[in-house]
This record gives sequence, C-alpha cells and structure tokens, in this order.
Amino acid sequence: MISLNQTHDPERRSWIESANAPGSHFPIQNLPFGAFTRDGEARTGVAIGEQIVDLRALADAQLVDGDALTACTAASGSSTLNDLMALEPRYPSALRHALSGLLSRDTPLLGRLRELEELILPRMADVEMRLACDIGDYTDFLTSLHHTERHGRFKGLAEPLPAAFKWLPIAYHGRASSIRVSGGNVRRPHGQYRDAEGQVRFGPAPALDFELELAALIGRGNDPEQPIDTGHALDHVFGYCLLNDWSAKSIQWFEQVLGPFLGKSFHSSVSPWIVTEEALAPFRIAAPARAAGDPAVLPHLDSAADRRAGGIDIELEAYLSTARMRSAGTPPERITQTHLGNLYWTFAQMIAHHTSNGCNLRTGDLLGSGTISGESAVSRACLTELTNAGKDPLQLPGGETRIALEDGDEITLTARASHPGAVSIGFGECRGRIVAAHALHAGEQ
Ligand code: CA
Repeated sequence: MISLNQTHDPERRSWIESANAPGSHFPIQNLPFGAFTRDGEARTGVAIGEQIVDLRALADAQLVDGDALTACTAASGSSTLNDLMALEPRYPSALRHALSGLLSRDTPLLGRLRELEELILPRMADVEMRLACDIGDYTDFLTSLHHTERHGRFKGLAEPLPAAFKWLPIAYHGRASSIRVSGGNVRRPHGQYRDAEGQVRFGPAPALDFELELAALIGRGNDPEQPIDTGHALDHVFGYCLLNDWSAKSIQWFEQVLGPFLGKSFHSSVSPWIVTEEALAPFRIAAPARAAGDPAVLPHLDSAADRRAGGIDIELEAYLSTARMRSAGTPPERITQTHLGNLYWTFAQMIAHHTSNGCNLRTGDLLGSGTISGESAVSRACLTELTNAGKDPLQLPGGETRIALEDGDEITLTARASHPGAVSIGFGECRGRIVAAHALHAGEQ
C-alpha cells in the first residue's frame, strides 16, 4: 500500500488556476496520465485543471532530472504510456513528485514556467485524446452480487447467483482491439438474435445497453507460472479508468454458451486519463464486509492489507442524453449513481485470481470490474437493470421512455474519489453516442 506524502497535501494549490476550481476533476493532487495528439503529433501527458503537461516538452525544457527524468523520457519516447507503465513504481512516482512541485504555487521556477506555459502546457480543448496505452489483453469481471443476481432472475434461473460467485471473481476474456477512447460514435452492431416472435434474425441489434465499470490498467506484469499474491497485487496496477462495456444484450442472450462474444466485442469505451494507484492512496478504505454465512475467503485471495484497504471511496454516475433532449436544450439526465463498494471482490483479488493458475498479465492489460450495480434502485448500473429487463421503462425529461439505447442516445460515465480530509479527485468522463447500424448486409432479413 502506498503511504500518504506531500503530493497528497490537501493544502497544496496550483498556479494553473483551473486546477483549483471547486469540483475540478484534475486538481494538483490527481495528476493522471494520458496520451493525446497535438498539432498532428502523438504526445503523452499529465492532466492539470483544464491543461495538460506535455511530457516531451517538459523533458526538452530540462525541468526534471533523476528518476523523474527517466520516467518522463520513457513516457515521451513513444505514442503510448506502456514504457512508463512497465517501470518500477518509484519512477512514475518520482515524476508525480516533480510535477506536483513544478505545478505548485510555491514553485521557485514560476517565472520560467510561465514563460514556457504555451509550449509545455497546452489546453485540453486544443488537443485530441487517444488511448493512453496499447491494451494487449482485456479481461472483464463480474463482481457485483446485485448485478449478477438480478440478471440471473431476469433469465429465470432457479439459482440466480452462480455457486462460484462467492468463491472467486468470475470473469471472461474480452476483446482488446475494439477498445476505443471516450468521445466517439458507437456503431450499432449487426448480429443474430431472437425477435419477439421467436424467429432467429440477423440485423441491427436491438436491446443495446451500457455497463458502468471501473477498470485497472496493469503496470508491471508477472512471469508465466508466477502468480501474484493478493497482498502485492496493487504493486502491479498502474492506475484506473472508466469503462463502458457496451452490450448488445439481444445478441448476447442468444449466442452465449461459452461466454460473451459478438454481443460485446463490437466496441468498448474507456476514459482517456489513468488515475494512478498513488493518487488514490487517500481514498483507500476497508474492503466491503462479507455477509454472515458467506464462505470464508480462500487463503490465496486473502490478505490483511486487502481487508484493511482493498476498497476505494469512489462514487460513479451515468448520464443519458437523447437526440430530442439535446435539441430541446435539456441537460443530460443522471440515471445511475453508485459506489465502488458495491463490488464483492477487490481489484487485488481479481489480479490474484487471474494469475493463480500461472497466467501472466502484461503491461497495459485492462481488467474491468464488471457492472457496478448496488442494491438500491438508483445504483443499478445498466439499462437492463434500471428497467427490470424492460418491464419498467425509464422515464426521461420531455416524456420519452427507454428500455434500451436508441440511435442518437449518448451515455456519459463519470466518477470521483472523495474522502474526509482529502481533496476530491475525478476520472473525467467516458462518453459515447449510439449511431445507426451500417446499411443492410447481403442476406439480411
Ligand atoms: Ca461487463
């Protein structure tokens, strides 16, 4: 576990004034990493308020040295953050400390930094965000008891919660090639499904849904046959981002025998900024307690450190905006409000379980938490749950209703870590707008 240090000092303020604004996602205590395109060039950087520290420009200006320069050089030497993420945690930590000093109001270099501001600190509005790293493998977990149990009930299963759920964090291997950064369109996929009359059809998928998740990005991986133990699992996490696991439930429910396939592999969205494990240190809380009567955690998924601080105090939200709402000037409607504490398993347990058979994780691998649904109505984190599998349509401002996403609907996920005594930090947003399926394929009915 990372101990608190001066980069977490709640009194620290930045000379970049937008970082000090109440409610800013990117105050000086956050400093998340991302990748972007600036004037046609691929760059990597660190968010501060409404600006970005361009790490190549920072290295060129010779404003950092030692381990921080090693980290800065690794991050700015390619178009993604993988080389930085693969380093021992002390290197990105040194860069975080150096940036926290340089961006602080108290920096002795303020005059020089202001002179170089245009060069080193482009505005977010002037750049285009890209995927922060190359994601080699994507694993999606299923760790909310409430999400799992509700879906079991919707499917009419005699035992809505699978027997394995309380013994291990259930997961499947997802598709990495179609993970895209927030902000683009999400094309409605074609696929096979059963229509209302029970006929099997191939065409644009109805019952399109979102799933609100948090994802861990792996820093240093593990060697094959060398499992990561729960107590050291977080040493392998570089940071976290938001994940929208778009799901064509109509395809999924027809095809799913071995696990999700085309119902999910058409597109997954992630937020552009990776909030580091170190930035989240002030928000670590005890792992959620297990109910009396639940099986005891097996030793390889247990550790005192994880029980004490395996949770993170993060609230997450989902907003929906329809084409009609936007044209009427109606703001997006918040449809989900949930907390990471609704997960039954911690990220450390997911990593320990993932590697317990000898499987090796690699730098840049993405591990989704699964839909973060809670028990309450407002904490249901996908439309299928929000509408009780279509029985209770979602009521929207202006009189529209939804049981599934329609073309033109836009989903925005957002999250904040908050805890008494700490400056709240955000994850930015993960946004995507559904657009109509491509024209009919040959042979489509
Ligand atoms: Ca999912």
